Amino acid sequence: MKEICSFSLKDLKVWMEENGEKAFRAPQIFDWIYAKDAQNFDAMTNMSKEFRAKLANEFSFPVLKLLKTQESEDLETIKYLWELPDQKRVESVLIMSGDRRTVCISCQVGCPARCAFCASGKEGLMRNLSPAEIVEQVLHINRSLKGKGERVSHLVFMGMGEPMENYDAVVKAIQIFNAEEGLGISQRRITVSTVGVVEGIHKLAKEELKVNLVLSLHAPNQHIRKKIIPYARKYPFEEVIMAMEAYSRETKRDITYEYTLMEGINDRPQHAEELAQLLSGKQCTVNLIPYNPVDGLRLQRPKREAIEEFREILEQAGINTTWRYTKGKDIAAACGQLALQKS
Ligand code: SAH
Repeated sequence: MKEICSFSLKDLKVWMEENGEKAFRAPQIFDWIYAKDAQNFDAMTNMSKEFRAKLANEFSFPVLKLLKTQESEDLETIKYLWELPDQKRVESVLIMSGDRRTVCISCQVGCPARCAFCASGKEGLMRNLSPAEIVEQVLHINRSLKGKGERVSHLVFMGMGEPMENYDAVVKAIQIFNAEEGLGISQRRITVSTVGVVEGIHKLAKEELKVNLVLSLHAPNQHIRKKIIPYARKYPFEEVIMAMEAYSRETKRDITYEYTLMEGINDRPQHAEELAQLLSGKQCTVNLIPYNPVDGLRLQRPKREAIEEFREILEQAGINTTWRYTKGKDIAAACGQLALQKS
Protein backbone atom coordinates (compact mmCIF):
# COMPACT_ATOMS: atom_id res chain seq x y z
CA MET A 1 0.00 0.00 0.00
CA LYS A 2 1.05 3.55 -0.65
CA GLU A 3 1.31 6.04 2.18
CA ILE A 4 -0.95 9.02 1.65
CA CYS A 5 1.38 11.41 3.51
CA SER A 6 4.20 10.55 1.13
CA PHE A 7 2.28 12.30 -1.66
CA SER A 8 2.82 15.95 -2.39
CA LEU A 9 -0.23 17.82 -3.65
CA LYS A 10 1.09 17.54 -7.18
CA ASP A 11 1.66 13.79 -6.85
CA LEU A 12 -1.83 13.32 -5.51
CA LYS A 13 -3.39 15.28 -8.37
CA VAL A 14 -1.53 13.09 -10.83
CA TRP A 15 -2.73 9.98 -9.00
CA MET A 16 -6.34 11.19 -9.17
CA GLU A 17 -6.10 11.80 -12.88
CA GLU A 18 -4.48 8.45 -13.54
CA ASN A 19 -7.15 6.70 -11.52
CA GLY A 20 -10.17 8.28 -13.12
CA GLU A 21 -10.85 10.71 -10.29
CA LYS A 22 -11.14 14.50 -10.32
CA ALA A 23 -7.94 16.44 -9.58
CA PHE A 24 -9.78 18.68 -7.09
CA ARG A 25 -10.02 15.67 -4.77
CA ALA A 26 -6.32 16.12 -4.04
CA PRO A 27 -6.58 19.51 -2.26
CA GLN A 28 -9.70 18.23 -0.50
CA ILE A 29 -7.76 15.32 0.94
CA PHE A 30 -4.88 17.62 1.89
CA ASP A 31 -7.34 19.85 3.68
CA TRP A 32 -8.79 16.92 5.62
CA ILE A 33 -5.41 15.62 6.67
CA TYR A 34 -3.42 18.78 7.27
CA ALA A 35 -6.03 21.39 8.20
CA LYS A 36 -8.97 19.44 9.54
CA ASP A 37 -6.91 16.76 11.17
CA ALA A 38 -8.81 13.77 9.90
CA GLN A 39 -7.35 10.63 11.39
CA ASN A 40 -8.67 8.21 8.81
CA PHE A 41 -10.36 8.28 5.42
CA ASP A 42 -13.78 7.63 6.91
CA ALA A 43 -13.75 11.05 8.53
CA MET A 44 -13.57 12.78 5.12
CA THR A 45 -17.31 13.25 4.94
CA ASN A 46 -17.58 15.49 1.87
CA MET A 47 -16.56 12.54 -0.27
CA SER A 48 -18.70 9.55 -1.17
CA LYS A 49 -18.48 6.40 0.91
CA GLU A 50 -17.38 4.52 -2.14
CA PHE A 51 -14.51 6.90 -2.84
CA ARG A 52 -13.39 6.83 0.80
CA ALA A 53 -13.35 3.05 0.68
CA LYS A 54 -11.29 3.19 -2.50
CA LEU A 55 -8.79 5.50 -0.80
CA ALA A 56 -8.58 3.27 2.26
CA ASN A 57 -7.88 0.33 -0.02
CA GLU A 58 -5.12 2.10 -1.86
CA PHE A 59 -3.43 4.16 0.82
CA SER A 60 -2.25 3.61 4.36
CA PHE A 61 -2.81 6.35 6.88
CA PRO A 62 -1.60 7.04 9.47
CA VAL A 63 1.68 5.12 9.47
CA LEU A 64 3.20 6.32 12.76
CA LYS A 65 2.06 5.13 16.13
CA LEU A 66 2.87 7.19 19.19
CA LEU A 67 4.41 4.93 21.83
CA LYS A 68 5.24 7.48 24.48
CA THR A 69 6.10 11.06 25.28
CA GLN A 70 8.51 12.40 27.86
CA GLU A 71 8.44 15.95 29.14
CA SER A 72 11.47 17.78 30.48
CA GLU A 73 11.37 19.17 34.02
CA ASP A 74 11.03 22.74 32.77
CA LEU A 75 8.15 21.59 30.51
CA GLU A 76 9.78 23.27 27.52
CA THR A 77 10.77 20.11 25.71
CA ILE A 78 8.77 17.04 24.85
CA LYS A 79 10.27 13.94 23.31
CA TYR A 80 8.04 11.69 21.20
CA LEU A 81 8.80 8.05 20.55
CA TRP A 82 7.14 6.62 17.44
CA GLU A 83 6.68 3.11 16.18
CA LEU A 84 6.92 2.58 12.42
CA PRO A 85 4.91 -0.03 10.49
CA ASP A 86 7.85 -2.48 10.71
CA GLN A 87 8.14 -1.94 14.49
CA LYS A 88 11.31 0.11 14.19
CA ARG A 89 11.38 3.24 16.29
CA VAL A 90 12.31 6.87 15.88
CA GLU A 91 12.06 9.97 18.00
CA SER A 92 11.21 13.64 17.51
CA VAL A 93 11.48 16.54 19.91
CA LEU A 94 9.21 19.53 20.37
CA ILE A 95 11.01 22.56 21.74
CA MET A 96 8.88 25.40 23.11
CA SER A 97 10.76 28.63 23.35
CA GLY A 98 8.91 31.96 23.56
CA ASP A 99 6.41 31.91 20.71
CA ARG A 100 8.35 29.31 18.78
CA ARG A 101 7.22 25.76 18.51
CA THR A 102 10.08 23.95 16.86
CA VAL A 103 10.03 20.29 15.95
CA CYS A 104 13.34 18.49 15.65
CA ILE A 105 12.63 15.78 13.08
CA SER A 106 14.26 12.43 12.40
CA CYS A 107 14.76 11.36 8.80
CA GLN A 108 16.37 7.94 9.19
CA VAL A 109 16.37 5.03 11.64
CA GLY A 110 19.93 5.24 12.90
CA CYS A 111 22.47 7.21 10.88
CA PRO A 112 25.20 6.30 8.41
CA ALA A 113 27.48 9.17 9.47
CA ARG A 114 28.62 7.60 12.75
CA CYS A 115 30.12 10.76 14.24
CA ALA A 116 32.22 10.01 17.32
CA PHE A 117 30.11 12.13 19.66
CA CYS A 118 26.56 11.30 18.52
CA ALA A 119 24.14 8.68 19.85
CA SER A 120 22.14 8.36 16.63
CA GLY A 121 24.84 6.73 14.55
CA LYS A 122 26.21 4.33 17.13
CA GLU A 123 24.71 1.36 15.36
CA GLY A 124 24.89 2.77 11.85
CA LEU A 125 21.97 3.16 9.48
CA MET A 126 19.02 0.80 9.75
CA ARG A 127 16.82 2.35 7.11
CA ASN A 128 15.52 5.52 5.54
CA LEU A 129 12.20 6.99 6.58
CA SER A 130 9.56 7.50 3.92
CA PRO A 131 8.20 11.03 3.37
CA ALA A 132 5.06 9.99 5.29
CA GLU A 133 7.10 8.82 8.25
CA ILE A 134 8.80 12.22 8.30
CA VAL A 135 5.64 14.26 7.70
CA GLU A 136 3.52 12.48 10.28
CA GLN A 137 5.96 13.33 13.08
CA VAL A 138 5.00 16.94 12.59
CA LEU A 139 1.36 16.25 11.85
CA HIS A 140 0.87 14.42 15.16
CA ILE A 141 2.71 17.05 17.17
CA ASN A 142 0.75 19.81 15.48
CA ARG A 143 -2.42 18.04 16.52
CA SER A 144 -1.31 17.87 20.14
CA LEU A 145 -0.59 21.63 20.09
CA LYS A 146 -3.92 22.52 18.54
CA GLY A 147 -5.75 21.93 21.80
CA LYS A 148 -3.77 24.83 23.26
CA GLY A 149 -4.42 27.05 20.25
CA GLU A 150 -0.84 26.65 19.08
CA ARG A 151 0.88 25.17 16.06
CA VAL A 152 4.27 24.02 14.93
CA SER A 153 6.11 27.11 13.68
CA HIS A 154 9.64 25.91 12.89
CA LEU A 155 11.21 22.68 11.70
CA VAL A 156 14.77 21.46 12.02
CA PHE A 157 16.14 18.27 10.49
CA MET A 158 18.37 17.69 13.50
CA GLY A 159 16.96 14.49 14.91
CA MET A 160 18.21 11.09 13.88
CA GLY A 161 19.75 10.64 10.48
CA GLU A 162 21.58 12.50 7.75
CA PRO A 163 19.09 14.37 5.54
CA MET A 164 21.36 14.32 2.48
CA GLU A 165 21.46 10.52 2.62
CA ASN A 166 17.67 10.35 2.38
CA TYR A 167 17.49 13.26 0.01
CA ASP A 168 14.35 12.57 -2.01
CA ALA A 169 12.18 11.77 0.99
CA VAL A 170 13.42 14.85 2.85
CA VAL A 171 12.69 17.14 -0.10
CA LYS A 172 9.25 15.62 -0.58
CA ALA A 173 8.49 16.11 3.12
CA ILE A 174 9.64 19.72 2.88
CA GLN A 175 7.25 20.30 -0.03
CA ILE A 176 4.38 18.95 2.06
CA PHE A 177 5.38 20.99 5.11
CA ASN A 178 5.58 24.11 3.02
CA ALA A 179 2.43 23.72 0.88
CA GLU A 180 -0.33 26.10 1.81
CA GLU A 181 -2.79 23.24 1.61
CA GLY A 182 -0.32 21.22 3.68
CA LEU A 183 1.15 22.48 6.94
CA GLY A 184 1.92 25.94 5.55
CA ILE A 185 5.33 26.30 7.20
CA SER A 186 7.43 28.90 5.40
CA GLN A 187 10.69 27.80 3.77
CA ARG A 188 12.51 30.31 5.96
CA ARG A 189 11.39 28.41 9.01
CA ILE A 190 12.69 25.08 7.84
CA THR A 191 16.31 24.14 8.51
CA VAL A 192 18.26 21.18 7.23
CA SER A 193 21.41 20.19 9.09
CA THR A 194 24.06 18.19 7.26
CA VAL A 195 27.29 16.47 8.14
CA GLY A 196 28.59 17.85 4.83
CA VAL A 197 27.63 15.77 1.80
CA VAL A 198 28.93 17.97 -0.99
CA GLU A 199 26.76 16.81 -3.88
CA GLY A 200 23.67 16.97 -1.65
CA ILE A 201 24.43 20.59 -0.76
CA HIS A 202 24.73 21.53 -4.44
CA LYS A 203 21.55 19.68 -5.29
CA LEU A 204 19.57 21.33 -2.50
CA ALA A 205 20.68 24.75 -3.75
CA LYS A 206 18.85 24.03 -7.01
CA GLU A 207 15.53 23.10 -5.41
CA GLU A 208 12.64 25.46 -5.79
CA LEU A 209 12.21 25.73 -2.02
CA LYS A 210 15.10 27.57 -0.43
CA VAL A 211 15.40 26.24 3.08
CA ASN A 212 18.07 27.13 5.61
CA LEU A 213 21.04 24.86 5.57
CA VAL A 214 23.49 24.43 8.43
CA LEU A 215 26.72 22.50 8.40
CA SER A 216 28.02 20.37 11.24
CA LEU A 217 31.57 21.65 11.13
CA HIS A 218 32.84 20.83 14.64
CA ALA A 219 36.51 21.45 13.85
CA PRO A 220 38.78 24.22 12.61
CA ASN A 221 40.65 21.95 10.19
CA GLN A 222 40.52 18.68 8.27
CA HIS A 223 42.87 16.91 10.65
CA ILE A 224 40.59 17.25 13.68
CA ARG A 225 37.38 16.97 11.69
CA LYS A 226 38.45 13.66 10.22
CA LYS A 227 39.01 12.24 13.68
CA ILE A 228 35.47 12.88 14.86
CA ILE A 229 33.48 12.79 11.61
CA PRO A 230 34.15 9.74 9.40
CA TYR A 231 32.37 11.46 6.48
CA ALA A 232 35.15 14.06 6.41
CA ARG A 233 37.36 11.48 4.68
CA LYS A 234 35.05 11.46 1.70
CA TYR A 235 34.16 15.16 1.82
CA PRO A 236 37.23 17.16 2.78
CA PHE A 237 37.05 20.32 4.81
CA GLU A 238 37.66 22.93 2.10
CA GLU A 239 35.23 21.32 -0.33
CA VAL A 240 32.47 21.29 2.24
CA ILE A 241 33.04 24.94 3.15
CA MET A 242 33.05 25.87 -0.53
CA ALA A 243 29.79 24.01 -1.07
CA MET A 244 28.20 25.91 1.83
CA GLU A 245 29.37 29.22 0.40
CA ALA A 246 27.93 28.31 -2.98
CA TYR A 247 24.63 27.38 -1.29
CA SER A 248 24.54 30.73 0.40
CA ARG A 249 25.24 32.61 -2.84
CA GLU A 250 22.61 30.72 -4.78
CA THR A 251 19.87 30.83 -2.17
CA LYS A 252 20.71 34.12 -0.44
CA ARG A 253 20.51 32.32 2.87
CA ASP A 254 23.01 33.00 5.65
CA ILE A 255 25.55 30.37 6.53
CA THR A 256 25.49 28.73 9.93
CA TYR A 257 28.17 26.35 11.15
CA GLU A 258 27.44 24.12 14.09
CA TYR A 259 30.29 23.46 16.41
CA THR A 260 29.87 20.92 19.19
CA LEU A 261 32.49 21.69 21.80
CA MET A 262 34.27 18.68 23.30
CA GLU A 263 36.86 19.02 25.98
CA GLY A 264 40.42 18.57 24.78
CA ILE A 265 39.32 17.76 21.24
CA ASN A 266 38.20 20.98 19.58
CA ASP A 267 37.67 23.47 22.43
CA ARG A 268 41.12 25.01 22.93
CA PRO A 269 41.91 28.68 22.33
CA GLN A 270 44.15 27.74 19.41
CA HIS A 271 41.21 25.95 17.80
CA ALA A 272 39.10 29.08 18.20
CA GLU A 273 41.88 31.17 16.68
CA GLU A 274 42.24 28.85 13.72
CA LEU A 275 38.48 28.89 13.18
CA ALA A 276 38.42 32.68 13.49
CA GLN A 277 41.09 32.96 10.84
CA LEU A 278 39.26 30.61 8.53
CA LEU A 279 35.98 32.49 8.82
CA SER A 280 37.16 36.04 9.25
CA GLY A 281 35.52 38.46 6.83
CA LYS A 282 32.92 35.87 5.87
CA GLN A 283 29.25 36.38 6.48
CA CYS A 284 28.35 33.50 8.78
CA THR A 285 27.31 32.44 12.26
CA VAL A 286 28.92 29.81 14.42
CA ASN A 287 26.46 28.01 16.64
CA LEU A 288 28.34 26.65 19.64
CA ILE A 289 26.80 23.54 21.17
CA PRO A 290 28.35 22.22 24.37
CA TYR A 291 28.66 18.45 23.97
CA ASN A 292 25.72 16.55 25.47
CA PRO A 293 26.85 13.41 27.22
CA VAL A 294 25.97 10.19 25.43
CA ASP A 295 26.00 6.85 27.28
CA GLY A 296 29.09 4.82 26.63
CA LEU A 297 31.16 7.68 25.20
CA ARG A 298 34.12 9.01 27.10
CA LEU A 299 33.92 12.57 25.82
CA GLN A 300 33.48 15.52 28.15
CA ARG A 301 31.61 18.79 27.93
CA PRO A 302 34.08 21.69 28.34
CA LYS A 303 33.95 23.88 31.43
CA ARG A 304 31.86 26.99 31.12
CA GLU A 305 34.95 29.24 31.11
CA ALA A 306 36.46 27.34 28.20
CA ILE A 307 33.25 27.76 26.20
CA GLU A 308 33.14 31.45 27.02
CA GLU A 309 36.76 31.95 26.04
CA PHE A 310 36.19 30.10 22.77
CA ARG A 311 33.24 32.30 22.02
CA GLU A 312 35.11 35.45 22.95
CA ILE A 313 37.91 34.69 20.51
CA LEU A 314 35.43 34.30 17.67
CA GLU A 315 33.50 37.43 18.63
CA GLN A 316 36.71 39.44 18.84
CA ALA A 317 37.45 38.41 15.29
CA GLY A 318 34.06 39.77 14.25
CA ILE A 319 32.37 36.41 13.85
CA ASN A 320 28.76 36.05 14.97
CA THR A 321 28.20 33.32 17.47
CA THR A 322 25.20 31.82 19.14
CA TRP A 323 25.44 29.56 22.06
CA ARG A 324 22.81 26.94 21.87
CA TYR A 325 21.28 26.63 25.23
CA THR A 326 20.53 22.93 25.15
CA LYS A 327 17.05 22.05 26.17
CA GLY A 328 15.62 18.74 27.23
CA LYS A 329 18.84 17.36 28.67
CA ASP A 330 17.07 15.60 31.53
CA ILE A 331 15.04 13.53 29.08
CA ALA A 332 17.96 12.88 26.72
CA ALA A 333 16.28 14.91 24.01
CA ALA A 334 19.13 17.31 23.36
CA CYS A 335 21.25 17.38 20.21
CA GLY A 336 22.73 14.07 19.29
CA GLN A 337 20.94 12.21 22.05
CA LEU A 338 18.20 10.64 20.01
CA ALA A 339 18.98 6.96 19.99
CA LEU A 340 17.42 3.70 19.01
CA GLN A 341 15.08 2.86 21.86
CA LYS A 342 14.92 -0.82 22.53
CA SER A 343 12.13 -1.30 25.03
N1 SAH B 1 23.11 14.48 10.37
C1 SAH B 1 22.85 15.88 10.59
C2 SAH B 1 21.88 16.11 11.73
C3 SAH B 1 22.51 15.71 13.03
S1 SAH B 1 21.93 16.25 14.58
C4 SAH B 1 24.17 16.61 10.86
O1 SAH B 1 25.19 15.94 10.97
O2 SAH B 1 24.18 17.82 10.91
C5 SAH B 1 22.11 17.94 14.73
C6 SAH B 1 23.38 18.46 15.41
O3 SAH B 1 23.67 17.90 16.69
C7 SAH B 1 24.61 18.20 14.56
O4 SAH B 1 25.33 19.37 14.45
C8 SAH B 1 25.34 17.18 15.38
O5 SAH B 1 26.68 17.14 15.06
C9 SAH B 1 25.05 17.63 16.78
N2 SAH B 1 25.33 16.62 17.81
C10 SAH B 1 25.36 15.28 17.65
N3 SAH B 1 25.67 14.67 18.82
C11 SAH B 1 25.84 15.64 19.73
C12 SAH B 1 26.15 15.63 21.12
N4 SAH B 1 26.33 14.50 21.79
N5 SAH B 1 26.25 16.82 21.74
C13 SAH B 1 26.05 17.97 21.08
N6 SAH B 1 25.74 18.05 19.78
C14 SAH B 1 25.64 16.89 19.10
